[in-house]
Amino acid sequence: MICLGIESTSHTFGCGIVSSKKKILSDTRDMLKTEKGGIIPIDAAKHHRKVGKRIIEEAILKAKYPKIDLISFSRSPGLPPSLHEGRKIALEFGKEMNLPIIGVNHVASHLSSAHFHTKVKDPIYLFVSGANTQILILENKRFHQVGESLDLAIGNALDKFAREIGLGFPGGPKIEELAKKGSYSELPYIVKGMDLSFSGIITKAADLLMKGNKKEDLCFSLQETCFSMLTEVSERAMANCGKKELVLIGGVAANRRLREMLTIMCNERKAKFYSVPLEYSGDHGAMIAYQGILEYNSGSKIKTDVSPYERVEEIEVTWKYLEHF
Ligand code: ATP
Repeated sequence: MICLGIESTSHTFGCGIVSSKKKILSDTRDMLKTEKGGIIPIDAAKHHRKVGKRIIEEAILKAKYPKIDLISFSRSPGLPPSLHEGRKIALEFGKEMNLPIIGVNHVASHLSSAHFHTKVKDPIYLFVSGANTQILILENKRFHQVGESLDLAIGNALDKFAREIGLGFPGGPKIEELAKKGSYSELPYIVKGMDLSFSGIITKAADLLMKGNKKEDLCFSLQETCFSMLTEVSERAMANCGKKELVLIGGVAANRRLREMLTIMCNERKAKFYSVPLEYSGDHGAMIAYQGILEYNSGSKIKTDVSPYERVEEIEVTWKYLEHF
């Protein structure tokens, strides 16, 4: 089976073509970026309408015009205008090609991408993106959250600080660059059991900026502090849940310092650390296509509406990662 997946939950319009032989035939995307300020939802939807057709055509061309059997799109959760635009494009394309369509959960797709790209079996999932900071496990056919950010997600926190220092969106990669030239200044460290809080740290960093601290030092300190917190809760989750594997997913997984800290922690406790390849850590279409194949073949209820607030814990995991291929 070959599935064409459309991602459109937020800033990125992506199209991936994946075969059930676990092969990515193509993955094309266009991300809305800004020089200053964040993403305005209606602008993201306009962006998707503008680039959608071209990105799909490029994916089909790169995959050498395969025989597509199924179309999937991200129906939840996300910015409502972006989700609606993506759905509209998927339905238009499905009608034109006379193909079945399935809507999937974007977070479940990120988590499934860990199983697509790595040999992980029964991990703690550390999902760190613009909109999410979640520590999860998969048990009894459900993803269960065992920890989360109580306020801002880590990606949003980094993007917010990037805006404070006049960098555009996405801020995470720019902070990573500046951090290479910085040294440590103390910032609050806020872990409450299995949960974390980032907003006070951003307020303090912004305050130190006003007081004349160097941008580079604040970027370095922000990474050291926030990533240590993520490492601490991941380790606690592994100990509490008796897991010997950790897998890192989501846009912030592209950060080399975060990967380094988690690798050291896992090595020290003789556990295995996995992360998705850099180019597949953020939002993209191939993960939506893979999720479409998983759900379509396992008899999940086919949904084609949009559900901006659906949580991944609500999804019944009808599919099996290990036996599917
Ligand atoms: P979600 O996937 O939960 O809907 P999203 O669509 O915003 O959220 P992604 O595309 O997965 O998320 O990730 C985007 C986020 O990743 C942005 O906040 C961006 O700043 C961050 N990011 C990307 N690269 C890096 C990096 N090298 N270091 C830190 N953060 C990064």
